Amino acid sequence: MKVLIFGKQASGKGTQAKLIAEKYRLVHIATGDIFREIRKEDSELGKKVRALIDGGKLVPDDVTTEIVMAKLKSLGKKGFILDGYPRNLTQVKAFEKIPIDIALLIEISDAEAVKRMSARRICNNSKCGEIYNTLVKKPKQEGKCDKCGSSVIQRDDDKPESIKKRLETYRRETAPIMEFYKKKGLLKEVDGTRPIESIFREIRGILDKIKH
Ligand code: AMP
Repeated sequence: MKVLIFGKQASGKGTQAKLIAEKYRLVHIATGDIFREIRKEDSELGKKVRALIDGGKLVPDDVTTEIVMAKLKSLGKKGFILDGYPRNLTQVKAFEKIPIDIALLIEISDAEAVKRMSARRICNNSKCGEIYNTLVKKPKQEGKCDKCGSSVIQRDDDKPESIKKRLETYRRETAPIMEFYKKKGLLKEVDGTRPIESIFREIRGILDKIKH
């Protein structure tokens, strides 16, 4: 099964993508996670990506597409859930040749996205990447990941100055691509303001209908 997942920042798409990958044995490809890893590198690309991410901007399309295509090629026939790509119409065009089964959109308002992003914390160990929230899901021991014991931090791009820019970028560049998948009859919208398990139940209902 080949799934795309869309949603504003902090819509819960990363959380749902992980649950979906586990349940349907799909490879979870999250371009944001890939770039956050590259961001830490002391290379030219690392520096470039750091400046873009921290400023709430997108990484250039050619770089992103190359990274995603190389990853997909390495998967062979394995199914995947792609989280964070394509993110604008140029990327949609570059990705058009890859057939997909469904595009899920997790819907939340801008106000909800801001509230959630300000509260989001993540495990600093990229191999774990557990997601926390200072309002609804605090780690048991402050600042320490329940799963692996690494430090729990706030993403630099979840800080207020980046949040506004990221939402603007989403509205301008990513929202229009929903129309593209809608016209193809591939888009399914899911209300993202409900509890994680109830959203996942609805998604399972959608995905179980797809042959795989
Ligand atoms: P995310 O965690 O998906 O919000 O991604 C974090 C950051 O990674 C974004 O703000 C971009 O700078 C970069 N990024 C992730 N996916 C893409 C993409 N498809 N195209 C360009 N930049 C991306």
